[in-house]
Amino acid sequence: MDEQLERTYDVVVRRNPGEAEFHQAVREVFESLEPVLLRNPHYTEGAVLERICEPERQIIFRVPWVDDDGRPQINRGFRVQYNSALGPYKGGVRFHPSVYLGIVKFLGFEQIFKNSLTGLPIGGAKGGADFDPRGRSEGEVMRFCQSFMTELYRHLGEYTDVPAGDIGVGGREIGYLFGQYKRLTNRYESGVITGKGLTWGGSLVRTEATGYGAVFFAAEMAKARGTSLDGLTASVSGSGNVAIHAIEKFAQYGTKVVACSDSSGFVHDEDGIDVDLLKQVKLIERARLTEYAARRPNARMGDEGASIWDIPVQVAAPCATQNELDTQHAENLVKNGLKFVVEGANMPATPGAIEVFSKAGIGFGPGKAANAGGVATSALEMQQNASRDSWSFEYTEERLQDIIEGIHETCLETADEYGEPGNYVLGANIAGFTKVADAVIALGVI
Ligand code: GLU
Repeated sequence: MDEQLERTYDVVVRRNPGEAEFHQAVREVFESLEPVLLRNPHYTEGAVLERICEPERQIIFRVPWVDDDGRPQINRGFRVQYNSALGPYKGGVRFHPSVYLGIVKFLGFEQIFKNSLTGLPIGGAKGGADFDPRGRSEGEVMRFCQSFMTELYRHLGEYTDVPAGDIGVGGREIGYLFGQYKRLTNRYESGVITGKGLTWGGSLVRTEATGYGAVFFAAEMAKARGTSLDGLTASVSGSGNVAIHAIEKFAQYGTKVVACSDSSGFVHDEDGIDVDLLKQVKLIERARLTEYAARRPNARMGDEGASIWDIPVQVAAPCATQNELDTQHAENLVKNGLKFVVEGANMPATPGAIEVFSKAGIGFGPGKAANAGGVATSALEMQQNASRDSWSFEYTEERLQDIIEGIHETCLETADEYGEPGNYVLGANIAGFTKVADAVIALGVI
């Protein structure tokens, strides 16, 4: 990074103390930007970096609710409305005990460039709460969601800010959030939230989109190297919505996924993960992977202290959470014959891991490009809501695939243009950034 980028980065760190994940996300983008600033001195003159790093609005609020024992509980809710140069704020909401401002800001910052890469008119935002849905009853989850929305609704709107799901927020929670919004505003404003159920304004393919999109991206990376995913083996970390649908789509490409994980560890199934059983255990029973392992003849849970990334595979798809794949994991994977990495989660590979992959010449699809299928299909849901229409599964999936192929091409072309062929990190960062930067300049100092 040149001096000016270092200086701006230092200001970001000083202004946002203790927010390690946010600093990491900013640094990763800045590390790609030196040649962009050299070619575009007006970005520096217009203080574009400084303007993009400072969120337009940050909302922090108390979320009070009453648990099943009648005891009041207090959580902290967040919405960071990061950048609206390209469209209304757009990004998910995460319910997880690890959520604090630094996590929401890192996710919101990533979202700006991810959304820009989709080519669709959406700005960047993220929200969440330090609420742990695990072990909570239906009633508790509903009351929590209602309380969360009771504060947040005044900041939302189909032209203002459109939330969706993320870790801990799926169809059930989106239903409670939308229901409360509708009640408070007396408006059936479908386009105010995405990830809705199919009978009340949702889009086909939205549930599958992030996982499917990541596999489309991996398939494009393989194609660009003159090969395919057919016959390869893969590990997919996580076993939530993203992981499950990535596993499903990998199977359609002839890739055998032999492992996935949850908070209880990882399961290694040499026969290939049975996606129907996985759905049954994780989505319907909301049980642990040990349940899956118990019902499959050759599946076993990983040993204590072992990692899913110890298993030799040609494709690694981290689809769980940030910083889950570190330098040591990356070295093991490379040693064991890895060819491709595709990030289904946001920032799952640490900077050290990315360096290992890059030195080894591994095809590496960064999250902001590879997992953009989720938010892209959210934008398709908004389109359907605006036109009071609903599209078929086939048509919507085709649109998703086109968008992902477009993102892949943009990344590769941009990497070529900047003299680093095959560097998807650089391509995604530069292409995502320049589009936002140009809009920020065009809209004036606001
Ligand atoms: N949370 C998802 C993401 O990380 C989806 C956001 C959305 O659909 O708005 O991109």
